[in-house]
Amino acid sequence: MTTDVEQPASSDFVLQGVPASNGIAIGKGYIYRRPKPVVNEEKIDSSNITKHVELFDDARRVIEMELQRLKRKEIDEISLQVIDAQVEMVNDPDLEQQVKSLIEDRRHSVDYAIKQVFDSYLEMLSKSQNKITQERMIDLEDVRDRLIQVATNYSIELDIEPGSIVIAEDISPREVIQFSDYNISALVTDHGGQTSHASILARSMGIPSVVGTKRTCQLVEASSQLIVDGNEGLVIVDPDECQLEEYKEKIKNQQVEEQKLRRIISEPSETKDGVPFNLCANIEFVEELPNLQKYGAHGVGLLRTESLFIHKEHFEDQSMQTAFYSEILEKTGSDPVTIRLFDAGGDKFFSMNSDENNPFLGWRGVRMLLDERDLLREQLKAILTVAGRNPGRVKILVPMISIMDEVLEVKDEIASIQEELEEEGIPVDHEIQVGIMVEVPSVAIKAEAFAKEVDFFSVGTNDLTQYTLAVDRGNELISELYQEVHPSVMELIHDCVVAAKQEDIDIAVCGEIASYPKAAVCLMGMGITELSMSPVAIPKVKTLLKKYSTKQMEEIAEEVLSSITAAEVNSILSNL
Ligand code: PEP
Ligand code: MG
Repeated sequence: MTTDVEQPASSDFVLQGVPASNGIAIGKGYIYRRPKPVVNEEKIDSSNITKHVELFDDARRVIEMELQRLKRKEIDEISLQVIDAQVEMVNDPDLEQQVKSLIEDRRHSVDYAIKQVFDSYLEMLSKSQNKITQERMIDLEDVRDRLIQVATNYSIELDIEPGSIVIAEDISPREVIQFSDYNISALVTDHGGQTSHASILARSMGIPSVVGTKRTCQLVEASSQLIVDGNEGLVIVDPDECQLEEYKEKIKNQQVEEQKLRRIISEPSETKDGVPFNLCANIEFVEELPNLQKYGAHGVGLLRTESLFIHKEHFEDQSMQTAFYSEILEKTGSDPVTIRLFDAGGDKFFSMNSDENNPFLGWRGVRMLLDERDLLREQLKAILTVAGRNPGRVKILVPMISIMDEVLEVKDEIASIQEELEEEGIPVDHEIQVGIMVEVPSVAIKAEAFAKEVDFFSVGTNDLTQYTLAVDRGNELISELYQEVHPSVMELIHDCVVAAKQEDIDIAVCGEIASYPKAAVCLMGMGITELSMSPVAIPKVKTLLKKYSTKQMEEIAEEVLSSITAAEVNSILSNL
């Protein structure tokens, strides 16, 4: 259990949270509060006209999707009418034409153009005494604000100085990317857990991070000096000289340690008795590609594609996606690349499912894709086109499978698109492998049946843990119950290994557990020889795996599998 605030004698105070991304940083605090959309009244450069028109089209598309999604809920007739009216507003050809002409002819920014056009309509409506008309004004304002928000969300300028430590109540994955552009030195959030998507991104970007500190935003003043210890989950506020010296020394040692670990990269990936294993990379952005070589990854074991969404809050069109996947393949030599279909939902995308009470149990991953067929087909077409140009290198991974029908439907869709591409004379990879994420216990329990239908399993322990133990992976209040090495989770993974071996299909683990060296030893002992993780974690995992023979690892796995509690498992692993 973490404590809220500890009071050491020397510094002002220390906050204890959950360690989310390793590393130590010293810097000034920057308190981040999500800004409200601001309208930019300055004229735009004529070279940006097309971009602003596109932003407007994109924003309309996103909002229409949001509204259509709302309509699928059981809502009353009046709400339905309101939503229909809003959809009509979004698609109103006059509004569209007027906004576009303000951008094109007057060089107004997209946000300013939206505001101008909507405000003139609002002014007209305000003259009416009719109550219904008055009510329509509120809806129109709502559409206006949402359009501006979506169209400008990713271009908000912040005054963060390089080296700052960002403190926030909560942050979205998109904001992590945004902060990394400012070269921040660390991140502290009051909410969130180790495997919430923002934490995963912080690790991947090498930003030290502590989450779940509960009251940092309340207790810390802007510009306070801070030490963030991402290894221990500590935030030291206004440290004294002695603490500063101690942590500067720690930073130095850490750098030396990293240098040492790098030496392992050129050595073969094999156990003490010569059994080979593959350590692959989990990535999401092309900016992360240099890390593959730097840390010795064997290709991409998990390409998260939500970034296509994060940056623009909508799915990139097919040609943009094709360019993205092509770049990944070009820059990974001849190594394999596993592309996961959009896993929107949970904590990865907000606006479309903000109306759900339980987003992690809701409309996410394949569930959403099968409802939004155009999006699914668009993404598959892009992936299959790139796969055809790089035969044998691309694998497709389907997220959030919970029932067999989903597997069959995606496979049908893939077959039909392959056929279409061939008819168009586009080369296809007939042998392309299609696998599923094992994240929901229903799949692990019936692993044998699923193994008959797919080419590989990739075990997503981040979600498998949350769904097995009924613990929200991002909720700091119950973070001590989020036990990734819990024997129940381990047993489910083991069941998948047995089924995969029986049906002769590949199995990998791509959840965060794969990056914990001692847990990785146990996974290898269960028979998993492919682990995919944030590239920075590879040297440490490789160092430990090379120290053990297969037999030793099997014995450890056996002991772990006969345990009852996570504490027992931790004690077995701590002896390694
Ligand atoms: C997982 O669930 O373990 C996983 C790798 O997927 P994500 O963290 O993207 O949900
Ligand atoms: Mg997952």
